[in-house]
Amino acid sequence: MRGVRPPTALSREIALTRIGTVSTAPGPARKSGGDLTDSLYRAIVDTAVDGIVVIDRTGAIRSINTATERLFGYAASELIGRNVKILMPEPCASKHASYLANYLSTGQKRIIGIGREVVGRRKNGSVFPMDLSVGEARDGGEPIFVGIIRDITDRKAAELAQRESELRLRSILDTVPDAIVVIDAHGIIQSFSPAAERLFGYPSSEVIGHKVNVLMPAPYREAHDSYIERYLRTGERRIIGIGRVVTGRRKNGETFPMELQIGEFSFSGARYFTGFARDLTERQEAERRIQDLQAELLHASRLSVMGQMASTMAHELNQPLTAVMNYLEAGRRLLSSRAGNLERLGEMMEKAIGQAQRAGDVIRGLRGFVGKGGSERRIQNVNQLVEEALALALVGARQRGVRTSLELNDALPPVFVDHVQIQQVLLNLVRNAVEAMEQVERRELTVATRAIPEKGMVEISVADSGPGVAPELANRLFQPFVTTKATGMGLGLSICREIVEGHHGKLSSAAGPAGGAVFCVTLPIAGREGTADGS
Ligand code: ADP
Repeated sequence: MRGVRPPTALSREIALTRIGTVSTAPGPARKSGGDLTDSLYRAIVDTAVDGIVVIDRTGAIRSINTATERLFGYAASELIGRNVKILMPEPCASKHASYLANYLSTGQKRIIGIGREVVGRRKNGSVFPMDLSVGEARDGGEPIFVGIIRDITDRKAAELAQRESELRLRSILDTVPDAIVVIDAHGIIQSFSPAAERLFGYPSSEVIGHKVNVLMPAPYREAHDSYIERYLRTGERRIIGIGRVVTGRRKNGETFPMELQIGEFSFSGARYFTGFARDLTERQEAERRIQDLQAELLHASRLSVMGQMASTMAHELNQPLTAVMNYLEAGRRLLSSRAGNLERLGEMMEKAIGQAQRAGDVIRGLRGFVGKGGSERRIQNVNQLVEEALALALVGARQRGVRTSLELNDALPPVFVDHVQIQQVLLNLVRNAVEAMEQVERRELTVATRAIPEKGMVEISVADSGPGVAPELANRLFQPFVTTKATGMGLGLSICREIVEGHHGKLSSAAGPAGGAVFCVTLPIAGREGTADGS
């Protein structure tokens, strides 16, 4: 202790007061003394990290320790005898004398024995936050006060940083569109973001402290405890870190699809889970609208391709057919006038046949064009082709209540095909199947792939649970313009067969084992197009 007069007893009192920082009772002065004890006390006081300042009843500084010098930037000699207000900024400095006087006359304590956070002022005028606790002691009957000062700049900075980070976090939580719900390992909600309030319709005050299963409909509501318990026991992840689409429940009982991601963290030995939930209602509706549009578009493009083909065909066929009619008409006139001779009649027939053949060529040419024209072949993975074609073909199918199963063989050799054309075939077959099932209750579509190595082929089959192919069509199914549909062109299957045969494959139909129709496409394994057994 640096002081003008650090009396032995005072040093002891200070040290004792220091130990019981907020004790107002003066430390019991030790009767036994001696230089050793005094120097020990002095050492303790001077080693203290906290500043220790002793003032008398007028506020004059009687002694300080080294920590005080360090804290305030004054040498002891500059402080001893000065009023303690020198260590305070305004307005505390001006008011200190009256605080002290007030205490001495009324005994009313503001800091003494209580301790509080105040601001200190250094010699250079800068200020710093400090914890001040004051004890009272007596020196020869006169009251003296011992102030213990702890610089809390670092603690304050840490607190500020924490508050800032909390604020930052809060502002993130407030603005993130996902609902964020934190629960503990018992499923008790710890925090509920504003987006969660909006999504579930509960104010956070109503759910914090309650089980998270209020946000779920049955049967998940009942099962949730066991989900957490199983995860904690086995570590087996079903949703944590994976994310999935689940059903949420709002306060008004309404349920809705939501995408849920769950993260996990530990704090002070306890485990917590953070759920990020996003309402899918709107997205699902938007997706459904897009699907409807796509379905319409597909339908329209299909019609337009057919329409184009039909008009080209009509145009191309018009000429030879008109000619056939003209020749036949002329032949009939020859016959009825009995004027013509057989030779002339034969000529007419010959010409009519020629034109009919030309008409046949037109049709063959057109089908050939569809089957081979603009073909761009590559090595392709059949399952991939199937999956892509299905994704397109099944747009809107789910709404029609069609259940689709895929039985794809993983070990298929590749094929060498024009993927657009083959997908066109699959698209047609699947569309036909879906359309056929419109008339029946049970709507099951099975698309399967398998290899037939002994034939060097890969097979794709499309089976439905519809009524099956009408018996009267069975023989003509793959001929053009054969249809049972009001708006059908009857070209789909004939084009499909052209395409498949153009790839050295086969397209056939059969009755399904459990009713319905099965259409099979076989395609040669890549590299075996020439040798594939097309039989
Ligand atoms: P479209 O679909 O324009 O009628 P298609 O050539 O694709 O032309 O089909 C011809 C006919 O074959 C259809 O009208 C239908 O009667 C019959 N058909 C095709 N696929 C099936 C199926 N999966 N189940 C029952 N009948 C089918």
